[in-house]
Amino acid sequence: MSLLFPALHSASSHTALRFGDRALSYRELAAAATGVAARLERAAPVAVWATPSLETAVGVVAGLLAGVPVVPVNPKSGESELAHIITDSAPGMVLAEPGVELPEQLAPLPRTDIGLSAEPVPEAGLLPTEPNAETAALIVYTSGTTGPPKGVVLSRRALASNLDALEEAWQWTADDVLVHGLPLFHVHGLILGVLGPLRRGGTLRHLGRFTPQGVARELASGGTMLFGVPTMYHRLADACASDPDLVRALAAARLLVSGSAALPLHDHERITAATGQRVIERYGMTETLMNTSVRPGGSSRPGTVGVPLRDVDIRLVDDAGQRVPAEDTETVGELQVRGPNLFTEYLNRPDATTEAFDGGWFRTGDMATWDTDGSVRLVGRKATDLIKSGGYKIGAGEIENVLLGHPAVAEAAVAGEPDDDLGERVVAWIVPASGQQPPTQQELAELVAARLAPHKRPREVRFLDAMPRNDMGKILKRQLPGRQG
Ligand code: ATP
Ligand code: MG
Repeated sequence: MSLLFPALHSASSHTALRFGDRALSYRELAAAATGVAARLERAAPVAVWATPSLETAVGVVAGLLAGVPVVPVNPKSGESELAHIITDSAPGMVLAEPGVELPEQLAPLPRTDIGLSAEPVPEAGLLPTEPNAETAALIVYTSGTTGPPKGVVLSRRALASNLDALEEAWQWTADDVLVHGLPLFHVHGLILGVLGPLRRGGTLRHLGRFTPQGVARELASGGTMLFGVPTMYHRLADACASDPDLVRALAAARLLVSGSAALPLHDHERITAATGQRVIERYGMTETLMNTSVRPGGSSRPGTVGVPLRDVDIRLVDDAGQRVPAEDTETVGELQVRGPNLFTEYLNRPDATTEAFDGGWFRTGDMATWDTDGSVRLVGRKATDLIKSGGYKIGAGEIENVLLGHPAVAEAAVAGEPDDDLGERVVAWIVPASGQQPPTQQELAELVAARLAPHKRPREVRFLDAMPRNDMGKILKRQLPGRQG
């Protein structure tokens, strides 16, 4: 296999990474990462305490250079989550930003501070040959949206093939300057957001903390691409109303990309209305990396997540186990994936790994339909977003999209609850927009019945101050207050 990061071997002075006012060129990054790599033990995975920092990026690159599996750890992990990750992945040491205090649970692990200075490059220099393509490169824990996070083992082959498929889909080059403020312990922020630019020989500018002003500033000063989760695009859409600099910066960007959860249509429309830009939605997961993306300039409609990436095979399988033909744009099926992008296994969970596959096809647990142009339209997760009510199968997402179109609704989540008559009934949770008269249950039910169909109207609406969300901004439906079933 070719080198994972060819630009690291070039001694180039091109900026690789910038976090605030600190930056590393490819030459400096290679020196720092090689220095850290020389101090890694090869026998066990290495945990990286993944603060949003240059150090985290250097630590991850060091592990990849050394061929030691890297476990990025969310520094905001709760005690039990942290205990689970450490017991499960059994790292031999932890890499951390100097000066950052680690929780007591990590005390038994030897700690190595990640230095940025050009540490003496060991004699062998950068690895002359990289490890086998099937070697575990990263162990990434899923977002924990539907249950406890699972450790996903990702090979160098999966990383390389997926990042190269994105190169093609997004025409991603060494001239691109990516801007984002995503956390560095998931696929989105770390693999796409850090390893992506490094594989291209381009640049990442990390915002530290996401703010619309930060986005405006970085895009106005050379940023070409923006990655974000829907909650960030929601904030950008809000901010566009009063920030002409932001509008100009977004309008001039080469590519605005959204993923990790569905981008509400309303936010998509508001961004387009303000900036003339279409937000490019892509769909992936920890186990598969990216599967589909809307193509810039292509024909996909808002609400779809685009077409399969190069080398990624996708099929939809209906309830009866039959493959849904691409001409059938009505039937909902489970989205299954095959290709070089797939993970190797769930760590320490051979049964879960076996169950997740259907003869080489990975069952994503996401439900979808085909769209007219061969694009995929996600309906939601089988476990939480598909409501079986009165003989109908209803996707929570389309109802959420309608509710979010109401001016007095800031956030919306829809789920099914057990019902004697209907099997399940549609229930909506609403965060009202501040400074507005909250909508009534009847008003919202009528809106949905008029836009979609009467059987999709919420039978009950519960109001709350804030949605339960995880670090990626995903709504935790199992934690919705008062949720039954
Ligand atoms: P867990 O597996 O622990 O419950 P998770 O599934 O949220 O958590 P990830 O692997 O980070 O963990 O997220 C993958 C999921 O995110 C996908 O299965 C899909 O449901 C959702 N997703 C990703 N991109 C999109 C998108 N563009 N639109 C809608 N949903 C998306
Ligand atoms: Mg998942």
